[in-house]
Amino acid sequence: MENIRVRFAPSPTGYLHVGGLRTALYNYLFAKKNNGKFILRIEDTDRNRYVEGAVENLIKALKWAGLDYDEGPDAGGDFGPYMQSQRLDIYKKHADELIAKGHAYYCFCTPERLQNLRAEQEKQKLPQAKYDKHCLSLSKSEVEKNLQSGIPYVVRLNVLPNQKIVFDDIIRERVEFDSNNVDDQVLIKSDGYPTYHLANVVDDHLMQISHVIRGEEWLSSTPKHVLLYDAFGWERPKFAHLPLLLNPDKSKLSKRQGDVAVEDYRDKGFLKDALVNFVALLGWNAGDDKEFYYMNELIDKFSLERVNKSGAVFDLQKLNWLNAEHLRKLSDEQLLVLLKEEILHSEFSSLNLADEHLLLIISAMKERVSFVKEFITTCQYFYTPPVEYEQKSVEKNWKQETPEQLKKLRDSFASIDNPTKEDYEHALAKTAEELNVGKGKLIHPLRLAVSGQSTGPGMFDLLFILGKDEVIKRIDTAIKKITIV
Ligand code: GLU
Repeated sequence: MENIRVRFAPSPTGYLHVGGLRTALYNYLFAKKNNGKFILRIEDTDRNRYVEGAVENLIKALKWAGLDYDEGPDAGGDFGPYMQSQRLDIYKKHADELIAKGHAYYCFCTPERLQNLRAEQEKQKLPQAKYDKHCLSLSKSEVEKNLQSGIPYVVRLNVLPNQKIVFDDIIRERVEFDSNNVDDQVLIKSDGYPTYHLANVVDDHLMQISHVIRGEEWLSSTPKHVLLYDAFGWERPKFAHLPLLLNPDKSKLSKRQGDVAVEDYRDKGFLKDALVNFVALLGWNAGDDKEFYYMNELIDKFSLERVNKSGAVFDLQKLNWLNAEHLRKLSDEQLLVLLKEEILHSEFSSLNLADEHLLLIISAMKERVSFVKEFITTCQYFYTPPVEYEQKSVEKNWKQETPEQLKKLRDSFASIDNPTKEDYEHALAKTAEELNVGKGKLIHPLRLAVSGQSTGPGMFDLLFILGKDEVIKRIDTAIKKITIV
């Protein structure tokens, strides 16, 4: 196979959009699968959209997701610099080359003239505003004169009318555009910066990009790019335009309907493996029923041919489900590291909990949680005594005779040295027998007394994890605090 080189080419707008993560991921998977190179190029030529810290954020999010690139701003490589703002002379040189060849021209039209032109075209109800090639007819000496007198200008691509622009897309197959619908694109703006179109094509060529894999929103830019490749006399890369991401109501995925930044998902506690797994399935499947994948399996299975044309719905429920699945596949030791991190950011940061204690909580709760933080939020009673007792359960399970029965149970626990789970279980069975009641009569109020709740992990796991002294203290407190009305 040819030398595979692909790139993720974000414009730094402040954060990494989940759609951007999907694009980056597909590029990464394609490169890894085909022994190619994955390149990060920052397309920062729109100075109006410059956001402080955006590049650092982007890089952080990509690294968090495990999408390490072979070449990029901070990774080096033979084709740098990888920030477009550091390549301005390269674009200028290439624009000059197109002007010399007659494929591009200087345009000195004032913003007022362009505005009038647009208004005029709108009045005529033309489908889209287009530049009227006014400056194409300027003579060489007029151009020279204008340049010398410092009149602001842009450089435009000279799009010939009545041409069919045809290219093949790996996902969308044959795509055709009519050149009459393509504007004489600005290539160099009046501030001397290139537009996306010129910089993108020049860099993809110079960086020897073999496949351009990007979102469908760029499909309409591709005819302009194709014209540029042809004008330079360069071979075109292969194109693959990925389907749009949609909200459940099939509208384009937007901030209004939920989070779109990768860092939001990270901060909400989604595991990177789950998010990557989920995003991989937004528009691609391996052709089987499997939905749970690790990165190495995705690399193994991925192909652009299996990417869908139609939009992919962003289903948060599925992401939640995948998170729980991935979480359960982590070892207790891996979860311990994550839980300790989570505790540091919680109200329990000052508790000095031993690893063995946390490991017990993990093993008791692993099947019951979907997020690492739920090892804290759904079972706070492991970290602090209950301050309230679930009212419904009090009404149902706390009877007149309960305090006396629990006192007996408490005494029985107190008499055991270092009780094991089984010791608690035997003690409870024995007490129930002595009181001549079913075990449930003791278990429900006991759970309420030690945890404040009516559900949770196995009763005896719970007691064992809390430890005898704490259990006794909590039973005593509950007996004092719970009053039946
Ligand atoms: N800079 C464009 C973006 O922000 C890149 C599009 C492309 O990959 O060509 O997504």
